[in-house]
Amino acid sequence: MVFVIIVSTQKEKQDKILINHEKIHLRQQWEMLILPFFVWYITEYIINRIKGMENRAAYRAISFEREAKENEQNQDYLKYRRPLTVDDFLLKNVFFLINLDKF
Ligand SMILES: [Zn+2]
Repeated sequence: MVFVIIVSTQKEKQDKILINHEKIHLRQQWEMLILPFFVWYITEYIINRIKGMENRAAYRAISFEREAKENEQNQDYLKYRRPLTVDDFLLKNVFFLINLDKF
């Protein structure tokens, strides 16, 4: 009985984290008017692969994923998150794209 309660509590916690993760993505999408979000998401993934990252690492390094992953356990994150939070990784990828011809 105790085991079932612990498992269900753990599952509930994991579900809350997952839902929070997806809510962060929804906020990111609305801020970027949806389509540019997906364009930039895919662009970052491609840049990461060009840099030599493996599939999973390239996915995890996408700036939107980093923000969501780093803050998914903070249920209050979206209450105080500043609009258009851009982490330095996104800026580095913009810089990489601008200077692609030099690589
Ligand atoms: Zn995600």
